[in-house]
Amino acid sequence: MPHIHIISKLTTSFEAARRSGDLLFFPSTITKHTDSDVEYEIRLCPALQHKAIPPKSITDPEPAYDDRRKDQNPFAPPYNKNLYIGELKDEETQEEFVLLLNKYSVVPQHFLMITKEYKPQTSPLLPSELVQAYSLLLAARESGQRFFAFYNCGKNSGASQAHKHIQFLPIENSEDGPPIEISARKAQITFPDRPFSLNHLSYANHCYRLPSQLHTYGPDQLETVLAQAFLQLLDLAISTIRHDESYPVGSPAYNVILTLEHLHVIPRGKEEHILKETGGKLSVNALGFAGMLLVKSDEELEAVKKESISKILRDVALESVHDIQVDGASHEAPLAGHL
Ligand code: AMP
Repeated sequence: MPHIHIISKLTTSFEAARRSGDLLFFPSTITKHTDSDVEYEIRLCPALQHKAIPPKSITDPEPAYDDRRKDQNPFAPPYNKNLYIGELKDEETQEEFVLLLNKYSVVPQHFLMITKEYKPQTSPLLPSELVQAYSLLLAARESGQRFFAFYNCGKNSGASQAHKHIQFLPIENSEDGPPIEISARKAQITFPDRPFSLNHLSYANHCYRLPSQLHTYGPDQLETVLAQAFLQLLDLAISTIRHDESYPVGSPAYNVILTLEHLHVIPRGKEEHILKETGGKLSVNALGFAGMLLVKSDEELEAVKKESISKILRDVALESVHDIQVDGASHEAPLAGHL
């Protein structure tokens, strides 16, 4: 199976890429910090202070993809042979994807699934992309590893590259998934095929529990479940955005987090939070909403803890309008609210 093949190459490809110097690895340490009933991981990576940041290519509105942009696109061929892991083709749509190791790696084996043909990072996930991402997570689990996937959609989502890419990160310290997954699991839901919201969080979030036997579904059924779940969550995210009168003009921005058990969509209002303590900018992408923040100094780490992660995430996300969306219906569970 091609997905297993990709996963089985990760360890050796990562080590070889690092040795070659084409992959830069930045060591880090993790501090746990509980806030709003979530045990967040704050990753301190001092080496990032000196990293030459690759130029951002994501813009809104999206200009035409011409030769000049192609030359500046790190995800266009020719691929660096040391970062290249392989390719996948969706059987239904014949769409092709390239798998590359993240060149600037803070977590070993962080890899990207990139559309082979140029597509913008401002576009919603397609059914084929969801199926391929889920199949990679499943292949990882079958080979005894755990990954989750995330997608930063739009300029204010924390994305830096304009060429469409979904990212995959191993779950290092826990069998349970990224920190937010613990909350999603705890949520008591009455209607399993409906989205719900984790109401103890400070920001608007839309979540869907995938069927427990999804790994046994055939390709058509798998695609239907994932596509319908995503469309429902996207509808809700857009509805949340529409309630925000100050929402910036341009394409809507949101983060997507996919595990084998849940799909999360978090609408975004802005990319960066200005830390009260230091005045510095803290960029937040899907990882922040998965419960994993990245800081570059002890000072920044202390500033994040002092200000509270809930406040930071609320600032870069949107206010929940879940109560309006459920139209006053009281389906509230202790941690979750149905729609
Ligand atoms: P995002 O910032 O969410 O758009 O994700 C883009 C990711 O691609 C970042 O994690 C970068 O570290 C990574 N990246 C940037 N340039 C390259 C490259 N040339 N090859 C592989 N990964 C890259």
